[in-house]
Amino acid sequence: MPQAALIDGKIYSAKVQAEVTAEVARLKAEHGLTPGLAVVLVGEDAASQVYVRNKGIQTEAAGMLSVTHRLPAETSQADLLKLVSELNDDPKIHGVLVQFPVPDHISQADVVAALSPDKDVDGLTVINAGRLASGLPGLVPCTPEGCMIMIRGVIPDLKGKRAVVVGRSNLVGKPVAQLLLQADCTVTMAHSRTVDLAAVCREADILVVAVGRPEMVKADWIKPGAVVIDVGMNRVPSRDPVKAAEGKTRLTGDVDFEQAQGVAGAVTPVPGGVGLMTVACLLNNTVKAAKRIHGIGG
Ligand code: NDP
Repeated sequence: MPQAALIDGKIYSAKVQAEVTAEVARLKAEHGLTPGLAVVLVGEDAASQVYVRNKGIQTEAAGMLSVTHRLPAETSQADLLKLVSELNDDPKIHGVLVQFPVPDHISQADVVAALSPDKDVDGLTVINAGRLASGLPGLVPCTPEGCMIMIRGVIPDLKGKRAVVVGRSNLVGKPVAQLLLQADCTVTMAHSRTVDLAAVCREADILVVAVGRPEMVKADWIKPGAVVIDVGMNRVPSRDPVKAAEGKTRLTGDVDFEQAQGVAGAVTPVPGGVGLMTVACLLNNTVKAAKRIHGIGG
């Protein structure tokens, strides 16, 4: 059975991280500017704690200012919005990210609406989504940007390629589709109401899956030779029945990786794929935001 090439998130993210680190050094030396990223975590969600800690470590490793606000789960929406407003006004901070999900009593939409579009490094505000849809420069969501870097690494010229994006969230599906469209792909967006999803996926030269359903995409959903980007991050019971009985879990994507390896031309693993790019692109967006705010080109 042919083995698909591995699209290794470690290699791609290390490259982005190195570029960011070099650019931060340049901004410090030439402009006396240290880009700063503030991350806000509300509550005790275990996965979010890990993400936030990693973001802080990598932000500092790139030479940037990292500020983390850990707020208790019972924090009121008003208090959270007040903090966001203070960070919007803080000249040392160029990127503000509120880690989602937030507790149920807080409206995610209200939090996004409170972010300054200039510091919205996750590209979630209506302004940045509108800029992306209109082909104007702005801050693009990190995970989609990471997907595009990996896709271009495998297919440098995307013109005319058939792309299928499964999932239509504002965070992943819609912006990935916009970016593929900007790259002159012919894009189909699929979702939970798509009829004969497997057949739609089989048309794709580039298949991006961002659904949150463990290993949903099987071998016969994939066109031979296609590039498969698996955004999904799902916790499922360990393969080892003893460990599973102890409650041990493993991380898996939306694509059945072993099956995909036998059909696809190239595929991202989970873990070790898109997830690593998300953090690297977050740092990159913070640098972009700092340069825009200070009117620095290059
Ligand atoms: P959402 O839950 O916001 O969106 C899921 C999308 O998948 C929806 O558009 C939904 O369709 C669609 N969908 C759900 N079930 C099916 C199905 N059976 N068939 C076809 N489409 C379906 O998720 P996100 O976009 O935020 O995240 C998707 C996945 O990516 C998750 O596993 C998440 O953990 C992961 N993720 C990973 C990141 C990374 O850094 N690697 C970053 C962000 C997310 P409909 O709109 O019709 O309901």
